[in-house]
Amino acid sequence: MATPTPYDIGTPGSPWGPTERAAWLQRQQRRRSYLDEVVAPLRAALPAQAELLSYGELDYTRLGLGRYPLHAVRSRQWLAGRPTVLVTGGVHGYETSGVQGALQWIRDDFARAAERFNLLVLPCISPWGYETINRWNPDALDPNRQFKPGSPAAESALAMACVAAQAGEVALHIDLHETTDTDNSEFGPAKAARDGGVFHWDPIPDGFYLGGDTEGPARAFSGR
Ligand SMILES: [Zn+2]
Repeated sequence: MATPTPYDIGTPGSPWGPTERAAWLQRQQRRRSYLDEVVAPLRAALPAQAELLSYGELDYTRLGLGRYPLHAVRSRQWLAGRPTVLVTGGVHGYETSGVQGALQWIRDDFARAAERFNLLVLPCISPWGYETINRWNPDALDPNRQFKPGSPAAESALAMACVAAQAGEVALHIDLHETTDTDNSEFGPAKAARDGGVFHWDPIPDGFYLGGDTEGPARAFSGR
Protein backbone atom coordinates (compact mmCIF):
# COMPACT_ATOMS: atom_id res chain seq x y z
CA MET A 1 0.00 0.00 0.00
CA ALA A 2 1.32 3.39 -0.96
CA THR A 3 1.86 6.05 1.66
CA PRO A 4 -0.86 8.68 1.41
CA THR A 5 0.42 11.89 -0.08
CA PRO A 6 -0.10 14.86 2.24
CA TYR A 7 -1.78 17.79 0.53
CA ASP A 8 -0.10 21.10 1.03
CA ILE A 9 -3.06 23.47 0.98
CA GLY A 10 -5.01 24.10 4.19
CA THR A 11 -4.77 22.72 7.69
CA PRO A 12 -5.31 18.99 8.19
CA GLY A 13 -8.70 18.39 9.77
CA SER A 14 -10.10 21.81 8.83
CA PRO A 15 -12.24 22.32 5.71
CA TRP A 16 -11.04 24.85 3.18
CA GLY A 17 -12.38 28.38 3.14
CA PRO A 18 -12.17 30.96 0.35
CA THR A 19 -8.44 31.52 0.89
CA GLU A 20 -7.56 27.85 0.43
CA ARG A 21 -9.85 27.51 -2.58
CA ALA A 22 -8.20 30.54 -4.16
CA ALA A 23 -4.75 29.08 -3.46
CA TRP A 24 -5.81 25.85 -5.12
CA LEU A 25 -7.22 27.67 -8.17
CA GLN A 26 -4.05 29.75 -8.48
CA ARG A 27 -2.08 26.56 -8.89
CA GLN A 28 -4.12 25.21 -11.83
CA GLN A 29 -2.80 25.61 -15.35
CA ARG A 30 -4.36 25.29 -18.77
CA ARG A 31 -2.76 22.25 -20.38
CA ARG A 32 -4.86 21.65 -23.49
CA SER A 33 -7.56 23.32 -25.54
CA TYR A 34 -11.23 22.43 -25.22
CA LEU A 35 -11.99 24.40 -28.38
CA ASP A 36 -9.34 22.57 -30.40
CA GLU A 37 -9.84 19.07 -29.02
CA VAL A 38 -13.60 18.96 -28.43
CA VAL A 39 -15.48 21.76 -30.16
CA ALA A 40 -13.52 21.87 -33.41
CA PRO A 41 -14.03 18.16 -34.23
CA LEU A 42 -17.77 18.50 -33.54
CA ARG A 43 -18.01 21.51 -35.82
CA ALA A 44 -15.88 19.92 -38.52
CA ALA A 45 -17.83 16.75 -39.14
CA LEU A 46 -20.90 15.02 -37.81
CA PRO A 47 -22.82 12.06 -39.20
CA ALA A 48 -25.80 13.08 -41.32
CA GLN A 49 -28.13 11.72 -38.62
CA ALA A 50 -26.73 14.12 -36.00
CA GLU A 51 -27.07 17.80 -35.28
CA LEU A 52 -24.95 20.01 -33.08
CA LEU A 53 -26.66 22.20 -30.53
CA SER A 54 -25.52 24.76 -28.02
CA TYR A 55 -26.79 24.46 -24.49
CA GLY A 56 -25.32 27.61 -23.04
CA GLU A 57 -21.95 28.67 -21.78
CA LEU A 58 -19.96 28.60 -18.59
CA ASP A 59 -19.01 32.13 -17.61
CA TYR A 60 -15.84 32.17 -15.51
CA THR A 61 -14.91 35.75 -16.32
CA ARG A 62 -15.32 36.59 -12.58
CA LEU A 63 -12.27 34.38 -12.03
CA GLY A 64 -10.40 35.61 -15.10
CA LEU A 65 -10.92 32.29 -16.85
CA GLY A 66 -13.18 33.35 -19.71
CA ARG A 67 -16.22 31.62 -21.14
CA TYR A 68 -16.76 28.09 -22.36
CA PRO A 69 -19.45 27.35 -24.98
CA LEU A 70 -21.27 24.10 -24.25
CA HIS A 71 -22.30 21.71 -26.99
CA ALA A 72 -24.38 18.60 -27.34
CA VAL A 73 -25.15 16.33 -30.26
CA ARG A 74 -28.61 14.92 -30.82
CA SER A 75 -30.52 12.89 -33.35
CA ARG A 76 -31.63 15.08 -36.19
CA GLN A 77 -34.77 12.95 -36.46
CA TRP A 78 -36.35 12.61 -33.00
CA LEU A 79 -39.19 10.10 -33.16
CA ALA A 80 -41.86 9.64 -30.51
CA GLY A 81 -42.05 6.02 -29.46
CA ARG A 82 -38.35 5.36 -29.80
CA PRO A 83 -36.37 4.89 -26.60
CA THR A 84 -33.99 7.72 -25.77
CA VAL A 85 -30.33 7.08 -24.99
CA LEU A 86 -28.25 9.72 -23.22
CA VAL A 87 -24.44 9.63 -23.30
CA THR A 88 -22.41 12.02 -21.15
CA GLY A 89 -18.66 12.49 -20.91
CA GLY A 90 -16.26 14.81 -19.16
CA VAL A 91 -18.31 15.47 -16.06
CA HIS A 92 -14.84 14.91 -14.64
CA GLY A 93 -12.77 16.86 -17.11
CA TYR A 94 -9.52 15.03 -16.37
CA GLU A 95 -11.04 11.70 -17.42
CA THR A 96 -9.95 12.08 -21.02
CA SER A 97 -11.18 8.73 -22.26
CA GLY A 98 -14.79 9.72 -21.56
CA VAL A 99 -14.54 12.92 -23.58
CA GLN A 100 -12.57 11.46 -26.46
CA GLY A 101 -14.61 8.25 -26.26
CA ALA A 102 -17.84 10.21 -26.67
CA LEU A 103 -16.40 12.02 -29.71
CA GLN A 104 -15.23 8.73 -31.20
CA TRP A 105 -18.61 7.14 -30.57
CA ILE A 106 -20.36 10.04 -32.33
CA ARG A 107 -18.01 9.65 -35.27
CA ASP A 108 -18.09 5.85 -35.56
CA ASP A 109 -21.36 4.60 -34.06
CA PHE A 110 -23.91 7.39 -33.86
CA ALA A 111 -25.37 6.71 -37.31
CA ARG A 112 -25.98 3.03 -36.55
CA ALA A 113 -27.50 3.68 -33.12
CA ALA A 114 -29.66 6.49 -34.48
CA GLU A 115 -31.59 3.92 -36.53
CA ARG A 116 -33.18 2.57 -33.35
CA PHE A 117 -32.86 5.23 -30.68
CA ASN A 118 -33.24 8.93 -30.09
CA LEU A 119 -29.72 9.98 -29.09
CA LEU A 120 -28.42 12.86 -27.00
CA VAL A 121 -24.69 13.15 -26.31
CA LEU A 122 -23.02 15.70 -24.02
CA PRO A 123 -19.36 14.92 -24.67
CA CYS A 124 -17.65 17.33 -22.28
CA ILE A 125 -19.70 18.65 -19.36
CA SER A 126 -16.74 20.25 -17.55
CA PRO A 127 -14.55 21.96 -20.16
CA TRP A 128 -12.38 23.95 -17.73
CA GLY A 129 -11.67 20.64 -16.01
CA TYR A 130 -10.77 19.17 -19.40
CA GLU A 131 -8.32 21.98 -20.10
CA THR A 132 -6.67 21.94 -16.70
CA ILE A 133 -6.97 18.16 -16.25
CA ASN A 134 -9.08 18.54 -13.15
CA ARG A 135 -11.78 16.64 -11.34
CA TRP A 136 -13.29 19.86 -9.95
CA ASN A 137 -14.59 23.05 -11.48
CA PRO A 138 -12.82 26.39 -10.69
CA ASP A 139 -14.83 26.70 -7.46
CA ALA A 140 -13.30 23.41 -6.26
CA LEU A 141 -16.67 21.67 -6.66
CA ASP A 142 -17.01 18.18 -8.08
CA PRO A 143 -19.70 18.52 -10.78
CA ASN A 144 -20.63 14.88 -10.32
CA ARG A 145 -21.79 15.66 -6.78
CA GLN A 146 -23.86 18.66 -7.90
CA PHE A 147 -26.62 17.16 -10.03
CA LYS A 148 -29.43 18.54 -7.87
CA PRO A 149 -31.98 21.36 -7.90
CA GLY A 150 -30.38 24.77 -7.36
CA SER A 151 -26.97 23.31 -8.19
CA PRO A 152 -24.03 25.60 -7.33
CA ALA A 153 -22.06 24.09 -10.24
CA ALA A 154 -23.07 25.60 -13.59
CA GLU A 155 -21.62 22.54 -15.37
CA SER A 156 -24.22 20.35 -13.66
CA ALA A 157 -27.12 22.83 -13.81
CA LEU A 158 -26.71 23.47 -17.54
CA ALA A 159 -26.33 19.77 -18.35
CA MET A 160 -29.50 18.94 -16.42
CA ALA A 161 -31.37 21.75 -18.16
CA CYS A 162 -30.17 20.50 -21.54
CA VAL A 163 -31.33 16.96 -20.87
CA ALA A 164 -34.69 18.18 -19.55
CA ALA A 165 -35.22 20.40 -22.59
CA GLN A 166 -33.99 17.98 -25.25
CA ALA A 167 -34.59 14.44 -24.14
CA GLY A 168 -37.71 13.98 -22.04
CA GLU A 169 -37.77 10.47 -20.63
CA VAL A 170 -34.41 8.70 -20.87
CA ALA A 171 -34.39 4.91 -21.18
CA LEU A 172 -30.63 4.50 -20.84
CA HIS A 173 -27.93 6.86 -19.60
CA ILE A 174 -24.28 5.99 -20.10
CA ASP A 175 -22.01 8.33 -18.12
CA LEU A 176 -18.39 7.92 -19.16
CA HIS A 177 -15.77 7.96 -16.42
CA GLU A 178 -12.21 6.83 -15.91
CA THR A 179 -10.34 5.88 -12.75
CA THR A 180 -6.94 7.48 -13.12
CA ASP A 181 -3.84 6.80 -11.04
CA THR A 182 -3.94 10.48 -10.04
CA ASP A 183 -7.02 9.73 -7.91
CA ASN A 184 -4.54 8.46 -5.32
CA SER A 185 -1.77 10.99 -5.90
CA GLU A 186 -3.74 14.22 -6.34
CA PHE A 187 -7.51 14.21 -6.38
CA GLY A 188 -8.20 12.01 -3.36
CA PRO A 189 -5.73 13.88 -1.15
CA ALA A 190 -7.09 17.23 -2.41
CA LYS A 191 -10.65 16.19 -1.56
CA ALA A 192 -9.65 15.10 1.93
CA ALA A 193 -7.83 18.41 2.44
CA ARG A 194 -10.76 20.45 1.10
CA ASP A 195 -13.27 18.69 3.35
CA GLY A 196 -11.08 18.49 6.45
CA GLY A 197 -11.22 14.71 6.23
CA VAL A 198 -8.83 11.82 6.00
CA PHE A 199 -7.59 10.40 2.70
CA HIS A 200 -8.09 6.67 2.16
CA TRP A 201 -5.95 5.09 -0.49
CA ASP A 202 -7.85 2.74 -2.80
CA PRO A 203 -6.42 0.42 -5.44
CA ILE A 204 -7.01 1.64 -9.00
CA PRO A 205 -8.73 -1.05 -11.07
CA ASP A 206 -7.55 -1.91 -14.55
CA GLY A 207 -9.82 -2.51 -17.51
CA PHE A 208 -13.37 -1.59 -18.35
CA TYR A 209 -16.23 -1.78 -15.90
CA LEU A 210 -19.82 -0.67 -15.56
CA GLY A 211 -21.27 0.84 -12.41
CA GLY A 212 -25.00 0.86 -11.79
CA ASP A 213 -27.37 3.59 -10.66
CA THR A 214 -28.00 3.28 -6.91
CA GLU A 215 -31.73 3.77 -7.35
CA GLY A 216 -32.03 1.58 -10.46
CA PRO A 217 -29.02 -0.74 -10.43
CA ALA A 218 -29.96 -2.91 -13.48
CA ARG A 219 -27.56 -5.57 -12.24
CA ALA A 220 -27.95 -7.79 -15.30
CA PHE A 221 -26.54 -4.95 -17.36
CA SER A 222 -23.84 -3.62 -15.07
CA GLY A 223 -22.75 -7.00 -13.72
CA ARG A 224 -22.60 -5.68 -10.14
ZN1 LIG B 1 -15.28 10.47 -13.04
